[in-house]
Amino acid sequence: MNIIMLGAPGAGKGTQAEMIAEKYGIPHISTGDIFRMNIRENTELGRKAKVYMDRGDLVPDELTTNLVSDRIRKPDCGKGFILDGFPRTINQAECLEKELKELGLAIDHAIDVDVPDDAIVRRMSGRRFCPRCGAVYHIEYLKPAKEGVCDRCGTELVQRDDDIPETVQKRLDVYHAQTEPLIGFYNERGLIRKLDGTREPEEVFSEITTLLEAK
Ligand code: AMP
Repeated sequence: MNIIMLGAPGAGKGTQAEMIAEKYGIPHISTGDIFRMNIRENTELGRKAKVYMDRGDLVPDELTTNLVSDRIRKPDCGKGFILDGFPRTINQAECLEKELKELGLAIDHAIDVDVPDDAIVRRMSGRRFCPRCGAVYHIEYLKPAKEGVCDRCGTELVQRDDDIPETVQKRLDVYHAQTEPLIGFYNERGLIRKLDGTREPEEVFSEITTLLEAK
């Protein structure tokens, strides 16, 4: 089962991808997480990606497509995978299609988690994360036991540079201009499964599992 998660940044696709990965035992591949791990480890890729990420722009395709192409060839992808945050441009989608074809594979479902922009801005600007272990919280919806401190490792929580309100707006503009056209791309291929992402995560997840198991 090869799945793509579409939807604006902050629509909750990462949370859903995590839940799908756990239920079906397939890897959750988040390009954003891979870039953030590289930033934490101060690799060359991390240093290059950070410049774009901090201002809300997309990391250039040549830095992104190779990374995904290597990842989907790893043995743990044998039963399938969930791509979260990739593809984000038509060019990336075309590269992925070509790569998968070479491997004799194809995408089975493109899940579009739909949330209006104003709700996204509220969600994202309240997000906090642990710079040490990567755990994610929210000042309204997912509070840590002690305000401002990571439950897992006790580190002080911070706001991601790309979650500050001006950058969130920029990321939404980039999403509408460059990523939303992918809905048309996958719709033409009969793969779009659109869901209302404003509901509780468990409700969204239950609809996703029904969709995945219907085919
Ligand atoms: P995310 O956690 O998926 O919202 O990604 C955070 C940031 O990483 C994005 O705003 C981009 O700067 C960068 N990024 C993640 N995935 C991609 C991608 N497929 N193409 C280009 N940039 C990406």
